[in-house]
Amino acid sequence: MIDLRSDTVTRPGPEMRAAMAAAEVGDDVYGEDPTVNALQDRVAALFGHEAALWTPTGSMANQIAVQLIASPGQELLADTDAHVLAYELGAAAAYGGVSSRTYRELSEVPAMIRKEGYNAVPTAAVVVEQTHNLRGGTVVPLTDLEALRETADAHGLAVHCDGARIWHAHVATGVPLAEYGRLFDTMAVCLSKGLGAPAGSLVLGSAERIARARPIRKRMGGGLRQVGIYAAAGDYALGNIARLDQDHARAARLAGALGVTAATNIVLVTVPDAARVVAGAREGGVLIGAMSPTVVRLVTHQDVDDADIDTTVAALKPLL
Ligand SMILES: *Cc1c(COP(=O)(O)O)cnc(C)c1O
Repeated sequence: MIDLRSDTVTRPGPEMRAAMAAAEVGDDVYGEDPTVNALQDRVAALFGHEAALWTPTGSMANQIAVQLIASPGQELLADTDAHVLAYELGAAAAYGGVSSRTYRELSEVPAMIRKEGYNAVPTAAVVVEQTHNLRGGTVVPLTDLEALRETADAHGLAVHCDGARIWHAHVATGVPLAEYGRLFDTMAVCLSKGLGAPAGSLVLGSAERIARARPIRKRMGGGLRQVGIYAAAGDYALGNIARLDQDHARAARLAGALGVTAATNIVLVTVPDAARVVAGAREGGVLIGAMSPTVVRLVTHQDVDDADIDTTVAALKPLL
C-alpha cells in the first residue's frame, strides 16, 4: 500500500535505528540524559531561542506552551482550523483552563484583543500554525508574522507558533529558521512529521519559560526517562530537513495531475463524496485521508517515491 494519509507514517530506516541503538542515555527527569540535552540545545540554537524541552508529542509541546503563556481564565486567539484548538481534544480548556476565540485571517486579530476589565476575558496570547495543516500546508507570509509581532508587542501579548511543519515553510521559502524564531515567544516543533523520527517534539522559549515547562510536562505525564534513544532519532531526523524539497516537488506534481495546487507537502482535493474517494483509492492500493465529508488529503513524505506518485495519480484520476 502507498500511504499518503500523513507524514507521520514514515518508518525509521537502518541508519536512524543505528543512531538510536548507539545513543548515550541517562534519566531525563533528572535532566541527566546527554543526548536529550544536546538535542534541546541544538534545536533551541536553530531558532535563536534560549532553551528547548523535548516532549513525546506535538500536542504536548503545544499544550505546555499554552500553559506557559496564558493563565486559567485568560484567552487564546487561534484560527478556526488550528490544530491547537480543533485537534487536541480540547486540551487548552481541559488542562490549561484557557478560554479561546478563533479568527479566520490574522488581520482580524487586532480588533479581537480584549483588555482585563470587570467582565471581559483578557486576551493573553495568539497562536499561528506554520505550515498550516488544514489549509493545505500553506505558508504564513513572513510580513504577516512581523505585523502580528508588532500588534502583540503593542498589547503585551505572547505569540506561539505551532511549528509542527515549520521545516517545510523554511525549505519552501528560504526564510532561515532563526528568522521565524525571533518572531515568537514560544514554539512547538516536531521531529516525527516529515523528518521521520518515530516520536518527539520540542517546546522552545526563554530559559525562564522552559524552566517552568519542565514541571508542567511532568504533571501532564510526559516525564520520560532514558529519552536519549528518541533524541538520537530526532538528531538524525534534523538531517532530513534539506530533503523536504523532494516531498514538495512530489506534492506539486501530484496536485497538478489532480487539478489543484500544493504549497508544501500537503494536497487537499475537494470532492463530492470524500468517503467514496478514500474507499476507491484503497482499492487502487493508495491510502489517503478524509478531512471532511468533501475534502480528501494526501501528504507526501520520505517513504514515497516518484513511481508511487504515478500510481497514486492513476488510482485517483478515475475517482475525481
Ligand atoms: C501533528 C500536528 C501536531 C501535533 O501532533 P501530535 O500527533 O500530538 O504529535 C500539532 N500541530 C500540527 C499542525 C500538526 O499537524
